[in-house]
Amino acid sequence: MPDLTLECPQCRNTFMFTEAEQAQYAEQAFPPPTYCPICLRQRKASRDEERDRRRSAKRRRR
Ligand SMILES: [Zn+2]
Repeated sequence: MPDLTLECPQCRNTFMFTEAEQAQYAEQAFPPPTYCPICLRQRKASRDEERDRRRSAKRRRR
C-alpha cells in the first residue's frame, strides 16, 4: 500500500494518509479520513461544543 495524498474538501490543503495510518484505519475498520488533521480537530471541537451547549440548555430548562 503506497502513501496516499488526500485533499481536504474544507481547506483545500493536501495531507498524507500514510501506509502506517492506512493499516491502522483498516485494522479498526475506520473509513479513510476525508478532512485534514487540522479540520478534523476543528470539527471535533465544534461537535463537542455543540454537545456541551445542548447539555447546558437542557439543564437550564429542567
Ligand atoms: Zn482541512
